[in-house]
Amino acid sequence: MKDTDHPVVIAGAGIGGLATARALGLKGFNVVVLEQADEIKPIGYGIQLGPNAYHMFERLRIAEQVLKAGTFPDAGLMRDMFTGETISHLPMGAPMRQRYGQPYTVIHRADLHDALLHSCEECSTVTLVTGARVENYEDDGQHVVVTTADGRSYQAQALIGADGVWSAVRNRMGCAPAPQSLGFTAYRGLIERTALPDGLFENVVCLWAGPGFHLMHYPVRGHELFNIVAVFRSSRFARNEEGAGSPAELKEIFANAHPQVRKYLEFVNLEQHWDVAVMEPAQRWSQGRVTLLGDAAHAMLQALAQGACQSIEDGVWLAEMLDVHRNAPPLAFSQYERFRKPRAFRAHFQSRLYWEIYHAQGGYAELRRDMLGGRTGQQALESLAWLYEAPDFSQASERPLAASA
Ligand SMILES: Cc1cc2nc3c(=O)[nH]c(=O)nc-3n(C[C@H](O)[C@H](O)[C@H](O)COP(=O)(O)OP(=O)(O)OC[C@H]3O[C@@H](n4cnc5c(N)ncnc54)[C@H](O)[C@@H]3O)c2cc1C
Repeated sequence: MKDTDHPVVIAGAGIGGLATARALGLKGFNVVVLEQADEIKPIGYGIQLGPNAYHMFERLRIAEQVLKAGTFPDAGLMRDMFTGETISHLPMGAPMRQRYGQPYTVIHRADLHDALLHSCEECSTVTLVTGARVENYEDDGQHVVVTTADGRSYQAQALIGADGVWSAVRNRMGCAPAPQSLGFTAYRGLIERTALPDGLFENVVCLWAGPGFHLMHYPVRGHELFNIVAVFRSSRFARNEEGAGSPAELKEIFANAHPQVRKYLEFVNLEQHWDVAVMEPAQRWSQGRVTLLGDAAHAMLQALAQGACQSIEDGVWLAEMLDVHRNAPPLAFSQYERFRKPRAFRAHFQSRLYWEIYHAQGGYAELRRDMLGGRTGQQALESLAWLYEAPDFSQASERPLAASA
């Protein structure tokens, strides 16, 4: 049996893993996706997809399905948490589509996941295995043996770690420090639009920015549902006290927020919250026949709304590189890593910057208003050209990048 007769194994059937499986399936690769959960089912909240994600969906031939499930907000707004003043305005409807050739949408995560899952099921060479937690691997240079927690083993030509922020593949590779809690907590809510009091529905992605806390909302499922996320820096976490990130602290922190914000807050689910973890992007993504993508390689803060979009980009480009270097996964992986890193690192860094901008206080908040408030809609759109412009796929087949590139 030749090395290339063995499948490419992907650890994790999240957004990045499924996008990669679809991209490889379209190119005729044999793919086995190992997912630890017994059922492939994402958490049920909203997600934003910039035009860059749609450039990839075209490539994956699922743009139509995702568009059907998407909602098209008119604008992205940042408002002052206390006064409600609009700090910045990014046009998202027709102007976004005209400028970047693709729309900006918001979507229910389950709908995006379903579109990706069905597209993988359509590929006869892609096999999805649930209840399979990848625990270890051995790369002997010719192939990789991947083992799961329940003792199964898979012989693969290559392994792709798409297993999220707490990646077992990355741990085994030993190429990045573990993620750290940032001391921020997130609460989410997803409610029927009809449950919203009059005047609270808006067809925009709106972020209310406060010192160390923010609230974001947007509609999903064609305005049937309304998605709300409230995030705050826990002072109890900083003081190492009990009750850090609790509903009581959430209410304390938002006590003086704009009345509209306090109304939205009534709809977040107080029974579940998320600790916001941050990691330095891995300096090295690949080793021999093993590589990482998505959150496993570069989990980023949600401030730029790009974590999922970048994981989809990773998957599409990884498939391009594997296609070009069919018999040499280590070369494909090193090309993929060198090619993708600058962009993913930029998104990672910009997310941190935006996180600081969202939570600015005092003089920094004034500076934010001066910097962002003076921009025209067109200038706001142009500031995202590096991220949203259509990629040139011919770059995948260009001469291999030099080691120092
Ligand atoms: C509050 C919030 C809002 C966000 N909003 C946006 C947004 O608007 N736009 C955007 O682009 N991004 C957003 N993100 C980021 C986005 O959710 C992630 O970046 C994205 O889900 C990463 O995809 P992934 O496939 O790399 O990892 P994941 O989605 O985490 O998937 C990993 C998969 O691997 C599985 N797995 C884990 N370990 C193993 C193992 N050992 N073996 C087998 N399977 C395993 C998991 O069960 C999971 O299915 C947001 C994140 C948060 C927290």
